[in-house]
Amino acid sequence: MKIAVVGGGAAGLMAAIVASQKHKVTVFEKQLRVGKKLFASGNGKCNMTNSILTRENLEKPNDFYNCQQAKDVVSKFDYNDFMQFCKDMLAIETITDLQGRVYPRSEQGGSVLDAFRLKCQKNNVKISDVCEVTRIEKTSTGFKLQVGNNETAFFDKVIFCVGSSAQVRNFNSFDLIKGFDLSFTKKQASLTPIKTEKVWLPLNGTKVKCNVSLYQNGQKVMSEYGEVLFRDYGLSGIVIFNVSAYIARNIVNDIYAKYYVMLDLFPELTQKQLEEKLFDRMAVCGKDSKTFFVGLLCNKLANEVIKACKLGEQIKQEDIAKIATFLKNIRFDVSGLCGEDKGQVVSGGIDFACADENLQCKNVPGLYFAGECLNADGLCGGFNLHFAFASGYIAGKSV
Ligand SMILES: Cc1cc2nc3c(=O)[nH]c(=O)nc-3n(C[C@H](O)[C@H](O)[C@H](O)COP(=O)(O)OP(=O)(O)OC[C@H]3O[C@@H](n4cnc5c(N)ncnc54)[C@H](O)[C@@H]3O)c2cc1C
Repeated sequence: MKIAVVGGGAAGLMAAIVASQKHKVTVFEKQLRVGKKLFASGNGKCNMTNSILTRENLEKPNDFYNCQQAKDVVSKFDYNDFMQFCKDMLAIETITDLQGRVYPRSEQGGSVLDAFRLKCQKNNVKISDVCEVTRIEKTSTGFKLQVGNNETAFFDKVIFCVGSSAQVRNFNSFDLIKGFDLSFTKKQASLTPIKTEKVWLPLNGTKVKCNVSLYQNGQKVMSEYGEVLFRDYGLSGIVIFNVSAYIARNIVNDIYAKYYVMLDLFPELTQKQLEEKLFDRMAVCGKDSKTFFVGLLCNKLANEVIKACKLGEQIKQEDIAKIATFLKNIRFDVSGLCGEDKGQVVSGGIDFACADENLQCKNVPGLYFAGECLNADGLCGGFNLHFAFASGYIAGKSV
């Protein structure tokens, strides 16, 4: 059979390799080269999966993905399956960090992309770069595609893997399937920095390690330790991206609420232990507020603490509890999420209800979906690339 893969990203390349074991496959990619996001992901290092994504772990309650269907897809091609695939089919050697994040041993996304491209070449997959698909039409026997400069091509089946509008200008690829009477969920940029009411301008660009808790209408809904980056519009960093995923998923489900985040700069200490530590410092550092925090906080942060706690030139005994409370409860009210220009993914997309368990479109037999174009989004840590690979694998196997 002749199979068209529309979109040469992580999902499309995986689908092409798997489908080409039985069929003649062509990948259409509108950009200069396939795999632009794969190349750039994980700051160029390509965090391609996570060792936590085992079938057993996916069965436990977790928020790795936004919906059960996304977890079901990953369960069918989990971390162990993907690692085996990397070894047997792509010869990609990997390294895993303490958070389970898996990278190529080369620590270069380019080498993962090259491995996928080489395998495509070996399997006689035709890759048509700079070749946008502008129309997909169902015929009595298969599909008619309009590609590139108004050429027409006929295929028996189509795997639709166009990705999302995250960091893509003028994304309109969902128009291709509009005529097929499919349902789409609401969309919202996710894994974005957050905008906050209060901003600490002097700290723009400064990072701190802390515990971040998200509160929704006053209730704590998540808590995670990691690095936070202060920005002139709010907060960024991996933990904040995961906070944004929680909010984005709510927005997609029309749940609106008031949110704030609390930073605990000393999660390893109780309030009392921190107060004791601060009292001990008085003996060593003296009471001058300008020097009291030296060796404890970076200077820019110390200045904000002095301002926020309204400390005088000399720190008084009664200030200690105030300082400890502040350092463990720095509140930022969330005024919004950043947009698709800054988001790593988009939450929402083609409704899973449109697809069967093989990711074949229920309305249009022969049309398959894979990757981020589906209503699937994962947390930071390799979850999104893994979903793209897993869904690509399932669609490629099923055609
Ligand atoms: C900056 C950044 C860093 C990231 N880092 C990570 C990370 O470390 N780990 C992780 O798990 N995830 C990461 N992600 C998310 C991850 O890259 C995506 O979820 C994943 O690449 C989605 O794969 P995909 O194949 O579905 O879509 P894409 O990779 O977006 O591929 C879709 C392809 O389809 C092509 N296309 C679209 N329309 C057409 C058309 N009409 N005709 C022809 N071609 C078309 C596009 O040009 C594109 O190449 C990151 C994302 C960004 C933006």
